[in-house]
Parts: sequence; structure tokens; C-alpha cells
Amino acid sequence: MIGLTEKSLEEIARNKLQERGVTIDSVAELVYFLQKDYHENLLIDECRSNVERVISKREVQNAIITGIQLDMLAEKNMLDEPLLQIIKSDEGLYGIDEIFALGIVNIYGSIGFTNYGYVDKLKPGILQHLNDKSTGECHTFLDDIVGAIAAAASSRLAHRAAGSEAY
Ligand code: MG
Repeated sequence: MIGLTEKSLEEIARNKLQERGVTIDSVAELVYFLQKDYHENLLIDECRSNVERVISKREVQNAIITGIQLDMLAEKNMLDEPLLQIIKSDEGLYGIDEIFALGIVNIYGSIGFTNYGYVDKLKPGILQHLNDKSTGECHTFLDDIVGAIAAAASSRLAHRAAGSEAY
């Protein structure tokens, strides 16, 4: 860990997201999708700034770099069986990818859980792309991480709109 500052961990996590095709704007669009019916005149800028705040948290950065690493190792066939096939095929009963992402949702309280389940079911926007098996890419962990960041950012936005500055 010599020389690894919090700033550089954040940079690494942000670069990894970008490399894997996930922009801040694409996550902000998920937040907008989740919150537009609850806040009049909701702006995409507000969604974006809540996503930024979630990504600035160390536990979220740790989840990003760990999940993406597992996805990339699976793409390169560098995991042992049976884990390799389970992650490569995004096996429905595996469930560890979802459990893993719940650590992010947890940060901002229970509204996040509802939002997380909702985007996981509907898979709008960037989540649809991440779930497209025809690309040859593996995003078994990343799709849940992105859904969880959007859910956490939505939860933060909702709490702050309700006047809770603590979030
Ligand atoms: Mg998944």
C-alpha cells in the first residue's frame, strides 16, 4: 500500500469505470430515471453531483476495483473452475455479485434497497448494455455495482430533498 493515497484510489476507480464503458453521465441517467417522478424539475446536474459524491467514498471505490477485476479475470479465463464458468455465464443463481453490491446500497439507508431491486429488474440505459451477452465482455459484477451506485445516489438525493443534510 506504499504511496496509495485516497486520491489515487479514486482516480483508479474512476478510470476503471471509464475503461469498462461506464460514464458518470450514464449512471446519472439511471438516477434521473429512478427519481424523476418524485421531484419536480429534477435536473440531470443534480443526479450527476449525487453520483459523484457516492463515487468519492472509499468503500465504493473498493467495490469498483474489486468487482471489475473479477470481471476482467473472467474475460481472460484466469479464474479456476467452477467459478470461471459461473462468472462468465453470469449464472442466475450465483448471487454473490448482488450481495457484493449491497455494501454500496447500504451506505445511504433503506430507500436504496428498493431502487436497487427496481433497476436490477428493469435494466434501463447503461445496465442494458452491460447485460448484453453478445459483446463478449463480462460485466457480471459491474452491472450490480453500477445499479448500486445509482440506487445509493438516488437515496442520497431523496434524503437531501427531504431536508436531511446529514446525507
Ligand atoms: Mg450481476
